[in-house]
Amino acid sequence: MNINLATTAPAEARSESELEARARRLAMQYSCSDAQEILRHAMEVEFPGRIALVSSFGAESAALLHLVSEIDKSIPVIFLETGKHFAQTLSYQRKLANQLGLTDVRDIRPNAEDVEAQDADGGLWKRDADACCTLRKVAPLASALDGFDAWITGRKQFHGAGRINLPAFEAAAAHIKVNPLIRWSSEAVAEYAAVNDLPAHPLVAQGYPSIGCWPCTHPVAAGEDVRAGRWRGSAKTECGIHGAAS
Ligand code: SF4
Repeated sequence: MNINLATTAPAEARSESELEARARRLAMQYSCSDAQEILRHAMEVEFPGRIALVSSFGAESAALLHLVSEIDKSIPVIFLETGKHFAQTLSYQRKLANQLGLTDVRDIRPNAEDVEAQDADGGLWKRDADACCTLRKVAPLASALDGFDAWITGRKQFHGAGRINLPAFEAAAAHIKVNPLIRWSSEAVAEYAAVNDLPAHPLVAQGYPSIGCWPCTHPVAAGEDVRAGRWRGSAKTECGIHGAAS
């Protein structure tokens, strides 16, 4: 008996599988493309006006922000303002956005009532880091992405763990994630920044190759994994905005 999945599957499952099929098609189509080609297609052809860049304005963020600004300086740039960033990150965000001429950088904050209810003393990160990331990153990002079809990330395969097999396009919940820098190495990021005269995050020179919130970010020794200073001493390796597979 032939079963027509297109008409028998629930609408939600159907749209999810359509999203996954679209992501797989794009990932195959752009599997050998460079970052500029991937970005141009995503921003100008596939998702025009329906795509945002999510940036932490961290140690490796400048290259992707520059690449995107070369295509469209008015693209929405989502910055998760957790309230726990280093002061250096906040000043770097303003400096870099200004230098690149980005016109729509959005500081996305956690819901104030939720913070009061769940983290009134500001110490949730010590008690339950996963809950803190959900409160300050995952939930605010989900709201901020309403109205977009896709978002751009700066994840790279060399970061290891679940990122080794990252594709250029992937389905994630109701969106497609675009990962134009998957094949970039740390050296390629540094070279791109140097050639384009991009400022470095001030904490990089102090031994921070990966930078998030101050309570959960520590310097890294020579030879350690680039993300070894994130949630040091715990099994946690991701904030949760990319899901378990990232
Ligand atoms: S990285 Fe740390 S401080 Fe920032 S949201 Fe997650 S647990 Fe909280």
